[in-house]
Amino acid sequence: LDGLPDTDARIRELDRAHVFHSWSAQKLIDPLPIASAEGSHFTDYDGTRYLDFSSQLINANIGYNHPKLVAAIQDYVGRLTTIAPTFANDARSEAARLIAELAPGDLNRVFFTNGGAEAVENAMRMAKLHTGRQKVLAAYRSYHGATAGAITATGDPRRWGAEPAMPGIVHFWGPYPYRSAFHSETPEQECERALQHLRDTLMVEGAHTVAAIILETVVGTNGILVPPDGYLAGVRQICDEFGIVYIADEVMAGFGRCGEWFAVDHWDVTPDLIAFAKGVNSGYVPLGGVVISERIARTFDERIFPGGLTYSGHPLACASAVASITIFKDEGIVENARRLGTEVIGPELAKIAERHPSVGEVRGLGVFWAVELVRDAATHAPLVPYNASGADAKPMNELAAACKERGLWPMTHFNRTHVVPPCIITETEVREGLGILDEALDVADRYYEG
Ligand code: PLP
Repeated sequence: LDGLPDTDARIRELDRAHVFHSWSAQKLIDPLPIASAEGSHFTDYDGTRYLDFSSQLINANIGYNHPKLVAAIQDYVGRLTTIAPTFANDARSEAARLIAELAPGDLNRVFFTNGGAEAVENAMRMAKLHTGRQKVLAAYRSYHGATAGAITATGDPRRWGAEPAMPGIVHFWGPYPYRSAFHSETPEQECERALQHLRDTLMVEGAHTVAAIILETVVGTNGILVPPDGYLAGVRQICDEFGIVYIADEVMAGFGRCGEWFAVDHWDVTPDLIAFAKGVNSGYVPLGGVVISERIARTFDERIFPGGLTYSGHPLACASAVASITIFKDEGIVENARRLGTEVIGPELAKIAERHPSVGEVRGLGVFWAVELVRDAATHAPLVPYNASGADAKPMNELAAACKERGLWPMTHFNRTHVVPPCIITETEVREGLGILDEALDVADRYYEG
């Protein structure tokens, strides 16, 4: 492109001079310039090609440069590129219809945002106005976004720098059988005890003061924590009992990631609000939103909803969502993700776990998997400490480097590496990537002490 830097060195130089990166100490990073991408691969300026087991930030569900999605965007750009939220628009109406059709129960209305954090923010606001209550319960080991309310709801170290944060958010422990906060020995026990803990939390907080419980349906960055069967139905029941709004954060887990359109479909649970983003259009144009139940939508029939965004329902973003959802249906992408999870990734990771002492647990569904690494299989002592950085993170950095040397781009976080490729990845590519991971895990085994 005319006027844009096109060599690796020049891009790096300008990046380091002028680009301020998220979640980073600016002097300690060296971002890889990416020149092009296609399917499940991206390529740097030296021509090195990586098989992507991260889907960028677990958002490129449809893969890169899907020709039909690119064409749909190009077509819409030629027609209309911006229109205020106060107008109606064909792309916006159709995107809302398609999303409502996919969403469970009577979640029939969509409030569009530019991304996930704004979706969470607005979902919490809707819940507070709908109930007239002020508190929101959120889980430890969660991520909900980086705006004021969403980062406060977040239950991991990313919140710490933003504190003191938004008042009214209370954290509780969700289920995590491998590191049970409840000393459970089975998933059934974990489910029962986690639900009792939630009830106890409500008892001491005052259930009548709680507007919403927000939960990632399957916890993403904090470890692909798949809830035991019965947990989400139990949360639904508790919310009904106490008049609390159940917000499912499906920003990462939705749109194919779990082998379902919405992850709640896996357990047949219907929340009151669903926050989505990422996979809705794979981030080809920024888009997120909240799917709203009829009951909550009615609250704002005669009463103004005090919230909005200049780009809410951006026509180009919505056109890309319409095209993406259509492509997902035509190409069976959700089914591909589900099949790869049950037939390839799950079984292959189980074999990898047997071969490598440092693999404490593998868990997941669809194309949403975690490999949790430990120093000792008996104690579950993590391979690197919680929130490890710098020298502490060395074993994980070495593991990531070993993957990259072999052409695999991994997604590592604390003591885990996640297997989160695009939902369109082929079985051959998945097997190739898992083969590389298998080899690279020898690096982690060197730190095993059990
Ligand atoms: N919620 C979840 C579960 C997420 O994983 C993320 C992002 O990773 C967000 C919310 C925030 O989304 P965004 O970065 O688009 O604001």
